Amino acid sequence: MQPSVGDTPPSPTANAPGEIDAPIGSLKGMGATRAKEFQTRGVATLEDLLNYFPRAYQRERAECSISELIDGPIQIARGEVVAVDYLTGKNRPRFEATLSDEAGSRLSLLWFNGAYLRNLIRPGMFIRVTGAVKFRYGIAQMSHPTWKEAPPDAEPIGEDRLRAVYPASARLTSKAIGQFVERAFESAGNQIAEWFDDATLQRRGLISRHDAYRSIHLPARQIDAMRARHRLAYDEFMLLQIGLGIAKRYRGGRISAPALRIDRLLDERIRRRFSFDLTAAQNRCICDIATDLRAQQPMHRLLQGDVGSGKTSVAVYAMLVAVANRMQAAILAPTEVLAEQHYFTLTRMLENSAVNVELFTQRTRRQSKGAILKGLADGRVQIAIGTQALLQGDIDFANLGLVVVDEQHKLGVRQRAVLKGKGYAPHYLVMTATPIPRTLALSYFADFDVSLIDELPPGRQPIRTRWLRSNESAEAYVLVRREVQAGRQAYVVVPQIDDNGLDDAKSVTAEFKRLSEGALMGLRLAALHGQMPTEEKQRTMADFRDGAVDVLITTTVIEVGIDVANATVIVIENADRFGLSQLHQIRGRVGRGSELSHCVLIADAGTEDSRERLTAMTRTNDGFEIAETDLRLRGPGEFFGTRQHGLPQFKIADITLEIDLLRQAKEDALAILADDPNLRRHEPLRDALMRQFGDTLPLAQVG
Ligand code: ADP
Ligand code: MG
Repeated sequence: MQPSVGDTPPSPTANAPGEIDAPIGSLKGMGATRAKEFQTRGVATLEDLLNYFPRAYQRERAECSISELIDGPIQIARGEVVAVDYLTGKNRPRFEATLSDEAGSRLSLLWFNGAYLRNLIRPGMFIRVTGAVKFRYGIAQMSHPTWKEAPPDAEPIGEDRLRAVYPASARLTSKAIGQFVERAFESAGNQIAEWFDDATLQRRGLISRHDAYRSIHLPARQIDAMRARHRLAYDEFMLLQIGLGIAKRYRGGRISAPALRIDRLLDERIRRRFSFDLTAAQNRCICDIATDLRAQQPMHRLLQGDVGSGKTSVAVYAMLVAVANRMQAAILAPTEVLAEQHYFTLTRMLENSAVNVELFTQRTRRQSKGAILKGLADGRVQIAIGTQALLQGDIDFANLGLVVVDEQHKLGVRQRAVLKGKGYAPHYLVMTATPIPRTLALSYFADFDVSLIDELPPGRQPIRTRWLRSNESAEAYVLVRREVQAGRQAYVVVPQIDDNGLDDAKSVTAEFKRLSEGALMGLRLAALHGQMPTEEKQRTMADFRDGAVDVLITTTVIEVGIDVANATVIVIENADRFGLSQLHQIRGRVGRGSELSHCVLIADAGTEDSRERLTAMTRTNDGFEIAETDLRLRGPGEFFGTRQHGLPQFKIADITLEIDLLRQAKEDALAILADDPNLRRHEPLRDALMRQFGDTLPLAQVG
């Protein structure tokens, strides 16, 4: 039959049986139903199958003596039947036998409904049994073992071997998966191409990719499986690092940024605007940033530091450099409340200066909105502050030189829309609200340069954190009263705005009522949450800043950035409802002055996880330690909210554990890119890169 027009005749190489990109349907024994099952797991080709990695290994042990049996999967032992019994009665009828070996060790065997065995297994017989072993009351027991007669002088059988255990289901068992993987490896394993030369492999102690694929699926020994894992984890890190390296080169090479001038005079002029001396750490970061701003390439810098370490001040310095260079600066905040806070800080700092700062939020009236947009377009507005939602897209800037992003964790390999300048890229400074563990910073922010503020402004005292059960919560409010009487202020943070009647989490409205009629009667309380009209929100924040409100009852809208140094107590109700990094961030609202501050977590011991979170909070004030613990408890995906950020998922590598390997891969990736920028001499690596990142990286550059 002639192929109809439009049909492509099968190409002689692609998808041919035995080729690594052939469909799994070409494997012997793979019917349509099974192929479909595989497809739902994302496995379509032989290569996918080879990349379907086991989640564990089981040891299949060779025959051993009864005393060597361990609690665990399939084992083989042999002995003399010394007793048999058939039990009926209330329970399910069952056949029991006891094996004993020469040393007198005993193994009990059990078959439910095993009546038929009464005539087959008799005392005095020697049998060999194979099955999983459970210890009950100190005695080894096998249920439903397979068995065979085996005289005492028969040779012991079998060698220990490992069997891969795959993520499986009833319809597609681990054993079946293993068989297909083995077949795929037999027919296409020889096409697994090596990425590196021998020297690199040797230097890093890596086995070949080919051997790694064999040993991850069919390891002879445990150590082989581990070496295979190591190699494949390295490869995952390598791919990501190469991808990030190319993204960075693309950004650096293609687009130029305005080179800004900074001299001593300007430096002094800016510093006079601060009411304090910058810390050594802040100065170091400013130095990094100044170097970046002087260059014609766009800065791409991540500013890290614990809560309250003074990141905002560093960013303000950079913005003032831009303004002094007759460029505009924009700062994007994650919430409206925080945008307003930045506006407040900047206008206060820039009082009696000619700098024109504008706040651009949901609340901004239609007319003033028009005026601001016009001011941005003609350059009269020099600093724009807004939420990310507002200050994105196609706002027209006259000469935008610097974008500061004050973000929580909203960064990924895939860059989101960035404000554009005219004909050039603005410099770009990102602040993290919560410290990012070193491991994550290394892997996901590899295309950022990182500056770290590793010291708090002088005079800060560590916050005292306590964890109280709900029936002890009165103590927390005694503390609040005491601090307010001493002229300080307090926050009470609850998980929700209104009682939704669905669960018993505390709400702003209910707590406001309860506390103002009870434990905090007579104090000046105010409620603040994200759903209040912006004007009211702003007024409440201003009242709190001015000291007209003693206690602010609020949700996590205060999580980021709010800066009132006179607040010295924070009570977090239902503290078990919050994530660890979030708790640390909320706690960071106090301890911002020189007074001793307190944080009280109120929660009843819930899950083990929540206990660990709360204990970590009472143990340390160190944001990096908190972040590491959070990462360990939640895993990297959750930590960042993976889906939202498009972070690559590692199949094998574990960035919480394999920091050194990640660092090696990064080093090697940079060396490879320096030596072979277009990966001409690393074709297999380039192919793999295309497959993984083809749609998101400017790989035309690589081609
Ligand atoms: P972050 O954004 O890192 O949480 P901020 O920049 O908001 O921290 O600074 C926290 C508080 O410390 C602010 O009130 C700020 O004015 C103050 N601050 C910042 N740097 C210093 C410094 N070097 N000395 C004294 N106070 C400082
Ligand atoms: Mg801040």
